[in-house]
Amino acid sequence: MSAVPETLCPSAQPDWPTARLFAVVGGTPDRPETAYLDQAQAVTPELLDLAGPVAPAEVFRFAAPCVGTACGHFDRGEHRCRLAEKTVRLTPAVVDLLPRCSIRKTCRWWQQEGPAACRRCPQVVTINYAPKPPQRDAADTSIY
Ligand code: SF4
Repeated sequence: MSAVPETLCPSAQPDWPTARLFAVVGGTPDRPETAYLDQAQAVTPELLDLAGPVAPAEVFRFAAPCVGTACGHFDRGEHRCRLAEKTVRLTPAVVDLLPRCSIRKTCRWWQQEGPAACRRCPQVVTINYAPKPPQRDAADTSIY
């Protein structure tokens, strides 16, 4: 495993080690709009309960250390996150101004893709049961 502790995945699950809540998904199922917290918050049972009855990753965004090659989205040869690359390549920009995001300095998507990732990030839902084709393809590890 080639974990890089200082580099955070912005599409983590809440049970990943040291995961923190950094954004809340609003908008509609057809048009998600993420609101970014001023400061990332610790994940607590009380916080996770707020998501009920849905899974926390349907309505919250969590950041946790990127696990590198242990992740199905990570390209070992290129040493890149393909989820970030495909999100930029396949999905539309949804904002012009970059969101105020507390994890930017350490975000893998930002480090790899720059502003193009942030202009698409507000539409990202970690667990999305009704993704549009571009989001579905971006998340599909069998599609390059
Ligand atoms: S892609 Fe940009 S907006 Fe999204 S989590 Fe990373 S730094 Fe924040």
